Amino acid sequence: MTGQFAAVGAGFSGAVVACQLARAGYRVDVYDQRHHVAGNCHTERDPATGILVHRYGPHIFHTSHAGVWAFVQQFASMMPYVNRVKAHAAGQVYSLPINLHTINQFYGLQLNPVQAEAFVRLKAQVFDRPVRNFEEQALSMMGRELYESFFYGYTRKQWGVEPSELPASILKRLPMRFDYNDNYYNSVYQGMPPEGYTALIERMLDHPNIRVFLNTRCDRSIRSQYQHVFYSGAIDAWFDGVEGPLRYRSLQFEQEMHHGDVQGNAVINYCDAAVPWTRISEHKHFAPWEQHTESIVVREYSTDCTENDIPYYPLGLDADKTILARYKQRAEQENNVTFMGRLGQYAYLDMHRVIEQSLGIAERFTQEK
Ligand SMILES: Cc1cc2nc3c(=O)[nH]c(=O)nc-3n(C[C@H](O)[C@H](O)[C@H](O)COP(=O)(O)OP(=O)(O)OC[C@H]3O[C@@H](n4cnc5c(N)ncnc54)[C@H](O)[C@@H]3O)c2cc1C
Repeated sequence: MTGQFAAVGAGFSGAVVACQLARAGYRVDVYDQRHHVAGNCHTERDPATGILVHRYGPHIFHTSHAGVWAFVQQFASMMPYVNRVKAHAAGQVYSLPINLHTINQFYGLQLNPVQAEAFVRLKAQVFDRPVRNFEEQALSMMGRELYESFFYGYTRKQWGVEPSELPASILKRLPMRFDYNDNYYNSVYQGMPPEGYTALIERMLDHPNIRVFLNTRCDRSIRSQYQHVFYSGAIDAWFDGVEGPLRYRSLQFEQEMHHGDVQGNAVINYCDAAVPWTRISEHKHFAPWEQHTESIVVREYSTDCTENDIPYYPLGLDADKTILARYKQRAEQENNVTFMGRLGQYAYLDMHRVIEQSLGIAERFTQEK
């Protein structure tokens, strides 16, 4: 036996569990099929410009959990950063999430918060039954004009299906405000690791009880080598897809280098269905405390996920839920494996949720031992 435990996946899920188990005195081997740690949060400096690039899409850390915030601060002194997103929609640039500025600009009005709330309530569609999907949720929150301008096209591109096929819960995650607050998140704490997420996770894994094996893909056979496996890969892949494939959305990124400031903001969403990309990120704006004369901009396209693509977002429609239930039944019988993280649970989870869950997994595990 080479180590007592294995963590498959060196993203936040695997790294947090490994770190906590190592601190409790256990030896942990961490595996990742990629050439780097940090999973989809991976950041690296662009060799030509020195700009820190979020390789798998922009990542902003936010949480309202004081324990999670304190935990990440052990590995990086988080720099203050507020996620402010802009939107290209119907020929103009607006502020997101939809707030008083967006509403006033969109309708050419100068409403105050009370007036705006009453105005939008009149626009909202009333359903005499609970809303059944994303589209109905949007129509009941903001009415057809705002929905079609800001959500329909973007959502259609992002998920590759009609918004009426998506669960209402996706929209419920996004705030709609009647003041001028354009902070994308409502979280108490928000920040960026100054040297990026990969440096943060490298520090997390820097423990004499941890060994990291990169470029190493693991399958179920790894169970025979360890007392317990903490698996943060895709749950369907672990079972060789026997219950059928779970559907994911993948992403394609197109990177360009330019001089100066290209768009004046870190992230701009493109809401119109006719524009093929979903957003453009200008990465130097994720580190406003750094000075760069050049700039790296990345166009993001949302695509179907084939066997050779990276699974980013679980689609999670009804057909997927049925298949997922069967994988979960199988997972319960895998007595020395914990399925965790975004792919292991087939759930969209922000970083702080993954960290909170992994801290809980490690704590329960060490208490039971
Ligand atoms: C485009 C995008 C933007 C996001 N933006 C934000 C944001 O702004 N804020 C936020 O809080 N969250 C954000 N997230 C969510 C964030 O990426 C996740 O919370 C986080 O990556 C989850 O960590 P994880 O360890 O569960 O999964 P991952 O980061 O996906 O790590 C899993 C790792 O396991 C490895 N692996 C899988 N199978 C195997 C195998 N069989 N053998 C070996 N290795 C394997 C993979 O290579 C991967 O490195 C975003 C996600 C995406 C897709």
